[in-house]
Amino acid sequence: MLDNLGKNLTNTMKKLAGMSIIDKEVVKEVIKDIQRALIQSDVNIKLVLNLSKTIEDRALNEEPPKGVTPKEHVIKIVYEELVNLVGEKAQEVEIDKKPYKILFVGLQGSGKTTTIGKISRYLQKKGFNPAIICTDTWRPAAYEQLRQLTENMNLPLYGDPENKDALDLAKKGLNEFKKQDLIIVDTAGRHKEEKDLLDEMEEISAIVKPDEVILVIDGTIGQQAREQALAFSKTTKIGSIIITKLDGSAKGGGALSAVAEIGAPIKFIGTGERVDDFEAFDPERFISRLLGMGDIRSLIEKAEEIAKDDIDMDSVDAMMSGKFTLKDMYSQFEMMNKMGPMKQVMNMIPGMGSKLPKNASQMTEEKLGKYKILMDSMTEYELEHPEVIKQSRVKRIARGSGMRNEDVKELMKYYNVTKKAIKGFGKRKMGGPMGQMMR
Ligand code: GDP
Repeated sequence: MLDNLGKNLTNTMKKLAGMSIIDKEVVKEVIKDIQRALIQSDVNIKLVLNLSKTIEDRALNEEPPKGVTPKEHVIKIVYEELVNLVGEKAQEVEIDKKPYKILFVGLQGSGKTTTIGKISRYLQKKGFNPAIICTDTWRPAAYEQLRQLTENMNLPLYGDPENKDALDLAKKGLNEFKKQDLIIVDTAGRHKEEKDLLDEMEEISAIVKPDEVILVIDGTIGQQAREQALAFSKTTKIGSIIITKLDGSAKGGGALSAVAEIGAPIKFIGTGERVDDFEAFDPERFISRLLGMGDIRSLIEKAEEIAKDDIDMDSVDAMMSGKFTLKDMYSQFEMMNKMGPMKQVMNMIPGMGSKLPKNASQMTEEKLGKYKILMDSMTEYELEHPEVIKQSRVKRIARGSGMRNEDVKELMKYYNVTKKAIKGFGKRKMGGPMGQMMR
């Protein structure tokens, strides 16, 4: 789906994840890449410029929340702003009365008939029994196409290829199906003049009194999508939008971002010709997929949770002042434990899974567990003043924890290396093993 846009955005995120420092230059470069990707996939230039400006402002001026690295913060901003571009929250079709009437509008060729089949299947699976009314008197094959589709799916259909009065067909169909729980009214997608088509939509809408009007838009038409959506929204209140043909390398960015401006949510997308090539549209899931960060949301949530817990602040303060004890290291380990299995955390960061820094990959969960057990055998004083841990204490700690002297020495070596590294980091927010990995 949207192969090129996805590939370009994923590469941008990978590049960002591979950067060692996030500064103004990096932010600008990332924004340039995003601009290029969006413009290539037909998103309106003005929208792209607005988006870039917002991302830049936020990335350069917002402080990352506690416990979130600058890099994660920029990823989060890009993600959030792209989600805003296509509509924020996922929205369902809420069938809250009987019969619930849906009016389908859209130009011929947009995929309206196919989509009626798709949404019927979707709603059938939710336990509803859609009945279809065909009011397209313009295209002779329209009734036949719907007849085949509904026959295959066992759906009741009302239509009459002999009747050329769309309004009459709508009235009769509604009367026929008044006991159904769900009625879907198909309409013509073409007339001699566009104005005639739009007038007819207005009249049909007045008769059907739909609970929801769904506009179907061809995802490959780029920015014309916006004009189409505007034209239809003048005839009847568009409640939701379905974008079709977003499979493969379609440049659907135009339609996706343009229609979001109309104020009606995109509720579904079509991703192929078959009846099951249909997805409820969830802006967050959609964008994280495009950015290639399977699970960035949960990574961000975890980072936010940790920020809320505030557990690292004492050790961060200690590090800022150049003091870093075993106790600080212990709380960093706790934080790492909270993030979940190390590998999993790293995989959530695009481009990181395969490129674990050496230090981080050496720090396996097994080791983390071992180090924690060793530290549990130390006294409070030892944790605060690691320099006192010499031979006799090493022996006692090893014995107390059921481990070998070498294990204690290994932990102390790790501590010393980390402490040294932290000094090198200067005034960065997160030092230590955590910092090395997340940067
Ligand atoms: P209508 O004139 O608006 O009723 O459009 P149709 O439902 O007849 O669809 C027009 C063409 O688009 C048909 O060839 C469909 O198979 C195709 N089509 C519809 N939706 C999709 C989709 O999501 N992906 C692809 N690839 N083709 C689609």
